[in-house]
Amino acid sequence: MVDIKSVGVIGAGQMGAGIAHVVALAGYDVLLHDLSKERIDAGVALIEKNLARQVGRGIIDDAAMKSALARIKPAEDVAAVGGADIAIEAATENEEIKKSIFRSLVPHLGPDTLLASNTSSISITRLASVTDRPERFIGLHFMNPVPIMKLVEIIRGIATDVPTYETAVAFAQSLGKTTSNAEDFPAFIVNRVLVPMINEAIYTLYEGVGTVDAIDTAMKLGANHPMGPLELGDFIGLDTVLSIMNVLYEGLADSKYRPCPLLVKYVEAGWLGRKSGRGFYDYRGETPVPTR
Ligand code: NAD
Repeated sequence: MVDIKSVGVIGAGQMGAGIAHVVALAGYDVLLHDLSKERIDAGVALIEKNLARQVGRGIIDDAAMKSALARIKPAEDVAAVGGADIAIEAATENEEIKKSIFRSLVPHLGPDTLLASNTSSISITRLASVTDRPERFIGLHFMNPVPIMKLVEIIRGIATDVPTYETAVAFAQSLGKTTSNAEDFPAFIVNRVLVPMINEAIYTLYEGVGTVDAIDTAMKLGANHPMGPLELGDFIGLDTVLSIMNVLYEGLADSKYRPCPLLVKYVEAGWLGRKSGRGFYDYRGETPVPTR
């Protein structure tokens, strides 16, 4: 097993920031990279806000917050991430973006550095194949919001070796998470089940079976879901939801995974959900208002 002390995180969006947050809180040094200094700074600001919320709720103390923040170092050049013991990619859910990140990282990797992707749906085997170390490449699928959700799905590619798997499980457990193993098939377990349900809720809206409010209320009170499926789609990010549906549709060649045209339209409009201020709800006012 690799002894992990430092962790590189690529992508400082909602997931990358969440991963950096829990990793730093668990005592690891973190190098946080994104496309620009502004995006890294925005990720750090999000981490600070979420750590402060945990202090406010008495989950951690002020000293833990300060030392976690001190462990997070911005890495404007992706090369800096190569020196970490494990590099976790949490960039936009797009296969070409992820492959180009791994290609640019490879020349800078230490000999033993492990590679992981937080992809929600893309083949770990295919992502690993563009690197020089498919045996030391693994899927570490954190859930959103990372500081709260207990699960990390672990996905082995066809070439992932046993020490990498064992290190990944021990690492996830050291963050206080429980792991669940999924085979490397499109969208793994959680999103194979969850995202088609969200897509179906969007079809229900598209076909006029119910309004946004009716669909979310029905699923919250009728199926005991903590969030309605449209609210959850907005929370995940509608670009990510669409991308996962496309991976399922293309990867399993089954028309039951066809992305709803209304989902496509929202993404085309840049209405990506909470992160862009508007999705199936408008988040720009005090309380979210349905957009249809
Ligand atoms: P996001 O849009 O909030 O963040 C993506 C970040 O990646 C952005 O900050 C963007 O600037 C950055 N990025 C894009 N191209 C890059 C590049 N070439 N180099 C460095 N950074 C780059 O998205 P997110 O919700 O944080 O999702 C990130 C990943 O996590 C995706 O693979 C997604 O499927 C996965 N994921 C998302 C969720 C969720 O609920 N949102 C849950 C589990 C996993």
